[in-house]
Amino acid sequence: MRIDVITGFPALVAGPLEESILRRAREKGLVEIIVHDLRDYTTDRHRTIDDAPYGGGAGMILKAEPVFAAVESLMRDRRYDEIIYLSADGERFSQQSANGLSMKDSLILLCGHYKGIDERIRQKLVTKEISIGDYVLTGGELPALVLVDAIVRLIPGVLHDGESMLTDSFQDGLLDAPSFTRPPEFRGMCVPEVLLSGNHEEIAAWRMAQRRSRTEERRTDLMEQS
Ligand code: SAM
Repeated sequence: MRIDVITGFPALVAGPLEESILRRAREKGLVEIIVHDLRDYTTDRHRTIDDAPYGGGAGMILKAEPVFAAVESLMRDRRYDEIIYLSADGERFSQQSANGLSMKDSLILLCGHYKGIDERIRQKLVTKEISIGDYVLTGGELPALVLVDAIVRLIPGVLHDGESMLTDSFQDGLLDAPSFTRPPEFRGMCVPEVLLSGNHEEIAAWRMAQRRSRTEERRTDLMEQS
C-alpha cells in the first residue's frame, strides 16, 4: 500500500512515522508513506500556500494552485483509489472506514490548515472527506496520522500477532476485554484466576463475557447496532 500525505507542515506528520509499529511497517516494505511539502508546489519567491478569504472574514485559506499542482503531479505517476481531505465536516471516521481503506492500494491524504482550503479543491479533486470527530483542530495533520495509524495496523503482516486485531474494540461491535500482565498480584490487586488457569476454553468464554458486559456498561449504542 502507498499513502501520500500533502501538508504545508510536513514536520507535524513526519515524527510519528519514525516510531514503533509504523516505522517497522515501512521498513518491512508493507506500506510506503510519503509526506509532501505543499510549499514545494508553489511558484512564487515566498512559497506562499495561503491567502485571505474572498468576502472578508478571519483566517487564511489554503490556495488552490499548489494543492492542484501537488495532486496532479502525484497522479501523473499512478492512479489513486481515494483522494481524502481531512475535514471537520466530513464523514465520521470509524473502524469500518479503516477496514475499508486498509484494502486500498493507494491513497492521498490532504491536510487543511488555518480556516480551511479553497472550496474548488473539494469540488474537483477530493473523492472523500473524513472527520475524526466533532471538534476543530488547527490542521489536518493529526487527523491524517490518525487515519494512517488506524489503517496501517490492519495491513497483513504489520502486527506481530495479526489475530489480536480481531478482538480489538469495534471490530465485531464489542469493546475489548480487560488485559493483565505479570505480576499476578500488585498492591493487593489480583489477576482473575481464570487467566492463570491455562484453560483456553474457559479463558475465551471469560473474555467474551467481559467484552459483552463492558460494551453493555459503556456503549449500549454498539449493542443496539449489532
Ligand atoms: N473552518 C473549518 C470548519 O469550521 O469546519 C475548520 C478549519 S480547521 C481550523 C483547519 C483544518 O484542520 C481543516 O481544513 C481540516 O483539514 C483540519 N481539521 C480540523 N478539525 C478536523 C477534524 N475534526 N477532522 C478532520 N480534520 C480536521
